[in-house]
Amino acid sequence: QELIRQLEETIENIPDFPIPGIQFKDISPIFLNPKLYEEVIRDLVAFSKGKVDAVCGIESRGYLFGIAIAVALDVPFILIRKKGKLPPPVVSEEYDLEYGSAAIETRKGQIKPGQKILIHDDLLATGGTTEAAAKLVQKQGAIPVQFSFLIGLKDLNGKDKLEKFNAEIYHTLE
Ligand code: 5GP
Repeated sequence: QELIRQLEETIENIPDFPIPGIQFKDISPIFLNPKLYEEVIRDLVAFSKGKVDAVCGIESRGYLFGIAIAVALDVPFILIRKKGKLPPPVVSEEYDLEYGSAAIETRKGQIKPGQKILIHDDLLATGGTTEAAAKLVQKQGAIPVQFSFLIGLKDLNGKDKLEKFNAEIYHTLE
């Protein structure tokens, strides 16, 4: 439809960034066009309306849309950050990268037990980050019931890693 056509025109595909062989999708031109940004938010909000108690956004591009989604849904927004950025007390979840490992965190107490959570990020690639985010939510007694992304890359099979959560998955673009 029209939104998808406009996004495809707007998002820039940058070859060999940040390393050779990777094609980076730069979403920053979306923010030059407030009407287009509004349409993106409308689309993502429609997916989650009435279905979640809170939104968790993944650092850092997950914040660009996540907080607007949360405000439109009138529910709390919780920042999931990379290790070491949030002041204590925090709850952490470690996950494996291609080389080594990383960890993500939320402030303790911001996610409430029993809450139905939307986990949002700008882009789903291998799914490793989102999987760790979902475990971080579960660890705090809440339920990841939805995942949303602006872009879901098909070839990397990110969805396979999310299947076990039995949550709804949505992405505006492939
Ligand atoms: P994953 O853990 O699914 O492999 O990677 C997803 C994370 O990497 C997301 O947080 C996303 O922001 C970032 N990411 C990976 N590739 C791209 C890309 O081409 N464009 C953008 N905007 N983000 C990317």
